[in-house]
Amino acid sequence: MTVLDLHSSLVRGRRAVEAYITECRDQLGEYTWDEEHATVRLTHAAHPVAKYIPFTRNQEGGTPTSSGTGADWLWWWLSSSGECFGMLVQAKNLKRVGRRWDVDLNYAKRRQIIDLLNASDLLKVPAVYALYCGDLAYRLDLTCGAGHTAGALDRCHRSAVCVLPALIASQLATFTALDSQGQAAIDAYQYAFPLEDLADNSQGTPFVDDLNLHHIDGELLEFLTQPQGMPRDIAKKIFGMVSRMRSGQFALAVSEHQRVGENVVVFGDLPADRGHFGVPYFDHVLRGLRRQPPDYLVAVANGEDPAPWLSRLVAGIVLFDAV
Ligand SMILES: [Zn+2]
Repeated sequence: MTVLDLHSSLVRGRRAVEAYITECRDQLGEYTWDEEHATVRLTHAAHPVAKYIPFTRNQEGGTPTSSGTGADWLWWWLSSSGECFGMLVQAKNLKRVGRRWDVDLNYAKRRQIIDLLNASDLLKVPAVYALYCGDLAYRLDLTCGAGHTAGALDRCHRSAVCVLPALIASQLATFTALDSQGQAAIDAYQYAFPLEDLADNSQGTPFVDDLNLHHIDGELLEFLTQPQGMPRDIAKKIFGMVSRMRSGQFALAVSEHQRVGENVVVFGDLPADRGHFGVPYFDHVLRGLRRQPPDYLVAVANGEDPAPWLSRLVAGIVLFDAV
C-alpha cells in the first residue's frame, strides 16, 4: 500500500484520532475529547488523499451550521472518471456516562437529527454520522455484536472512527425514550461500520440482499449484486447498512418506482419504498452518487469562496481521492 492508497490513508487517519484521544486521556485524566478536532486530525493524517477545506465561519455574520454544533462537513469521494459520491457528515462522540453509553441521538429533542436530515435534502446527499468511539481501552465492555472475537482482525480494533447512516440513527433514537441502559448507543456502535472498511477491497463488495431486489433490474441490480469500483463501492456499503435495517422492518415492500434527475445521478430510477424510515431510502443514499461533481464543489476545489448558502449548511468540505 502506498501513501496515496485510500484505505491506508483512512487507517492512518483512524490511528491519528486514537492517538489524539489517548493524548487527551493522558493530559486530562479522563476520556474527554473534541469531535471537531478529531476530524481535523483524521483528515490531516489522511492527506494527501484527503483534502480538508474549512470554510471561514461566520464571515457573513451568519449562524453556525444546521446542527448548531459546527461539526457538519460535506465529504466527497472523487474518481478520475468524474463519478463521485457525497455525504453530509456530522461528528458524534460515543460517550461513557456513568456506567452506560450515550451518543446524544436525542440532542435538543431530536431537533439536531431532523436538521441534519433536512440539510442533507438541500445538498442532495445522504446524512451520515462519523462516530468517534475512543480507543480500545475505552470500550473494553462494548463489543461489535454477535460476530465479535478476541482476534486481532476483529472489527472493534478498527472502530475508533465509524460511519452510521442518519436514517439508522434516527430509528435507534425513536426507541431511546425509556433507554436507561444506553442501548441505543450500543446499537449505534454495533450497526456502525469502521470508516476504513469503506475502502477495504480485501473484504470484497457485499451482495446487498435488499427487500426490493425483485423490483429492480438493469444497472441498479448489477450495482447491488456485483463487484463495483470506486466510488460506487462506498455508496454501496452505506446503502447496504440501511438496506439491512430495512430487512428487519415489518412494513411491506412496495413496487412503485420514482424517477429523479437521471442525467445528474448515476441511478435515477429507484424503488420508492420507505420502510419505517419516513423517506424513500434508495433515493436518500443513492442521490449522493453522481456522474460529475456538482458546480459548487468544482468551484470550492478550485479555491473559490463557498457560496453563502453552502457555508451556512456546512463547516467545510473534505475531498477524498477514491481511485
Ligand atoms: Zn468486536
